[in-house]
Amino acid sequence: MATKKKEVKETPLMKQYNEIKGQYPNTILLFRVGDFYETFGEDAVEAAGILGIILTKRANGSAAYIELAGFPHHSLETYLPKLVRAGKRVAICDQLEDPKMTKTIVKRGVTEVVTPGVALSDSVLEKKHNNFLAAIHFEKDCVGVSFVDISTGDFKVCSGSPELIKKIIFSYNPTEVLYKKSDYDKIINLIGERFYFYGLDDWVLETNHSIDLIKEVFEVKSFKGYGFDNANDVSLYAAGMCIHYLKQNQVANLSHLDGIQRLAHNDFVWMDDFTIKNLELIFPLNKEGKSLLDVIDSTQTPMGGRMLREWIAFPLNDLISIHSRNDKVSFLVEHKDLTHLISAQLINIKDLSRLSSKLVLNKLNPKELAVLRESLVHTTNIDGIIQEENAYELASLTSEFGALKKVIEVINESLLDEPAIAVGKGDIIKPGVHKELDELKSIVRDGKNILLRMQQDESEKTGIPSLKIAFNNVFGYYLEVRNTHKDKVPETWIRKQTLTQAERYITPELKEYESKILTAEDKIHVLESNLYNELVSKVALYVKQINNASFKIASLDCLISFSQLAIDLNWSKPVVDDSHVIDIKEGRHPVIENALPKGQPFIANDLMLNDQEQQIIMVTGPNMSGKSAILRQTALIAILAQMGSFVPAKEARIGVLDKIFTRVGASDNLAAGESTFMVEMTETASILNNLSSRSLVLLDEIGRGTSTYDGVSIAKAIAEYLAENENKPRTLFATHYHELNQLEESFDGIKNFNVSVKEVNGKVHFLRKLVKGGSAHSFGIHVAKMAGVPKKVVSRAEKILDELEESPTSKNKPVVKSKKKKSDDAAYQLSFIQLDDPILEEIRDEIKDLDINSLTPMEALNRLNEIKNMIG
Ligand code: ADP
Repeated sequence: MATKKKEVKETPLMKQYNEIKGQYPNTILLFRVGDFYETFGEDAVEAAGILGIILTKRANGSAAYIELAGFPHHSLETYLPKLVRAGKRVAICDQLEDPKMTKTIVKRGVTEVVTPGVALSDSVLEKKHNNFLAAIHFEKDCVGVSFVDISTGDFKVCSGSPELIKKIIFSYNPTEVLYKKSDYDKIINLIGERFYFYGLDDWVLETNHSIDLIKEVFEVKSFKGYGFDNANDVSLYAAGMCIHYLKQNQVANLSHLDGIQRLAHNDFVWMDDFTIKNLELIFPLNKEGKSLLDVIDSTQTPMGGRMLREWIAFPLNDLISIHSRNDKVSFLVEHKDLTHLISAQLINIKDLSRLSSKLVLNKLNPKELAVLRESLVHTTNIDGIIQEENAYELASLTSEFGALKKVIEVINESLLDEPAIAVGKGDIIKPGVHKELDELKSIVRDGKNILLRMQQDESEKTGIPSLKIAFNNVFGYYLEVRNTHKDKVPETWIRKQTLTQAERYITPELKEYESKILTAEDKIHVLESNLYNELVSKVALYVKQINNASFKIASLDCLISFSQLAIDLNWSKPVVDDSHVIDIKEGRHPVIENALPKGQPFIANDLMLNDQEQQIIMVTGPNMSGKSAILRQTALIAILAQMGSFVPAKEARIGVLDKIFTRVGASDNLAAGESTFMVEMTETASILNNLSSRSLVLLDEIGRGTSTYDGVSIAKAIAEYLAENENKPRTLFATHYHELNQLEESFDGIKNFNVSVKEVNGKVHFLRKLVKGGSAHSFGIHVAKMAGVPKKVVSRAEKILDELEESPTSKNKPVVKSKKKKSDDAAYQLSFIQLDDPILEEIRDEIKDLDINSLTPMEALNRLNEIKNMIG
């Protein structure tokens, strides 16, 4: 007997699920079923693991089970960020119709796909961080990159050398990076594996598909208006990749994208990734530390916070723009009362960019629309304050704010002062906007009263005193008449039920009211929803103006934050000019100063560099004396000045910089995995190959990653190269190789300085003062001595060092390229006279303490013997 194969039939729900899941294969599909979001199969296993929710099984038709894990729909805001942060792409599938309205299975569809780089939900986004989706496209030696933040409308592109693109990618730190699948190796080569990647099929870039997409979104025929001469610019392909991906992820409306901003990298100070990291501009090197951004950020709005991040990563190099910011900060510092008034408004301005993006994408709820209105009111208040106070210096920061009043008016016309969070959760639209809506609301509110009034009216008209209106589920509202008054019932009434004591009737009027009451809620829903959507569309017409306001408020916020720093921390206005000088009086390191315990002062230092007699400063000093601090504070002061801020110094003159390079010797360099010395040298090579006359170069213990003679030789050769370089880059060179001090004699542009220390009772005391002059002895041996290493070992070490330094046959001995050929003997002589040898010091002290007049010859002989023993 042939066995009939048992067919496993899917339930209709699972059939629908599988169809939708098929369209979003690489995502976790959150499938709305009633009040829950459910996940099935492998998604459920993954989601349960990430979210810590219970994994169960559910019957899927006959004899089949499937894994299931779900959570209540109102917990989406809690669970969604966890999935996204775990690197998952999440498709949210909602019910597209009211289940009450359908007898078959509810229509469902994906309304949003959230990926690390494409997110709108406040729970996924961080206030003061942009959430950038990036795309990278390679073409021979040129690389194109684009960044889109769908939550704010920012859209930036750039093309250039791989090194430039790498720096820009690290600066913007995207949360998701798109690439062409066949470019995988190139991508990893360029930026490593630390980003969240998503590969696009090659065809996206093969035809003009990606370029056509941008034309479509921005409604342009050419890109000349955006400053592109070449319609095939490699960065435009990258931009197209982003747009393709956004469309694929259900981002239907891109009209809030604020045009394409071309990153003109020549307008900013060039800092490579290493420099940005090492100067701890945005992130501290260790978790407990603070970055410059942490210390200087007192912005009050989210968009201000995001802008400040960008200002730090991209300091200006154009004097006019620098002065424009700098002068505004001065003005704010000098007009504290005005600044105070503006600040009081700023604090109430919420994230205009993100609210306006939600507006365009139809994701703005009524409460948020009220928040937008409130923020716009404060925005226009700022404009009012600036005009009232005749603060022309700030006028450009609130220009074109006129339209905002109109936006507020439009919202005010129909939105309640305190609307409900969503349609159906309470009132949204003001009374007086829509007659029918008002009637419906009054019906719902006054329903009972209306019926009571009707009851009274009918009772009077008919003369039936005991008339009553009631409700049942069978035929709704009815009039009940006791049998004694039956004869008074008008003919128009329709009898519906006869009881022993009474009869029940309905009337057309009663039925009309009944239907009004019962359907009023539903109608209110529809009407409020339509009116709200209309309102949103009207407001969305002003998205450009709102974004403009957001940008300007962000700038104002940053500048006020600068003025606050200037006042609170006693910073001063720098002079930024086109000289080749850096002249800092009483400069401080803002981050170290901030971290010092109360009562412990930061020691300020003067420092001057130019392109003439003091082009390179050799900073020597023992470990922990403060060499790196001096190097870094010089760069930080210059960066702050070129961001437009005041600076932590009594006075500062900064000849504008276009590049800042920082390199740190290998043992401080945490680049794991590779040969650290190789890394150090590769990076140094890239500095030496990219110097300009406006470069600032900071070299901290360069050469340390190899043997001493190698290190000294390389460090010297680099210093010589920099001194001879025609660009005369201003350079600070921290080193503990005192041999490098010899270069001062050979090069006019090199000067020796040291960070002074004092020895008190055998303990080193850091004075942290940068003073003129080099160091003639080895700090290593000096430190060993201070650390209590036995004297014998210390003096032996000194001897060995002397031998090494003096040995004429030593093949490894570093050669000084001497132009002036000054004698090295002077330095040797100096160190001898200094009596740096501890034994000699002890002998000296012995002899000094002797009272020869009271010494017997025998005692004298004994003392001489002791001294001899000391020498060993
Ligand atoms: P080096 O580079 O010479 O090894 P650092 O510059 O790293 O030394 O400084 C070591 C520590 O000394 C810093 O972490 C900081 O706490 C402190 N320090 C440095 N410079 C100063 C200063 N001018 N005033 C006060 N403390 C300082």
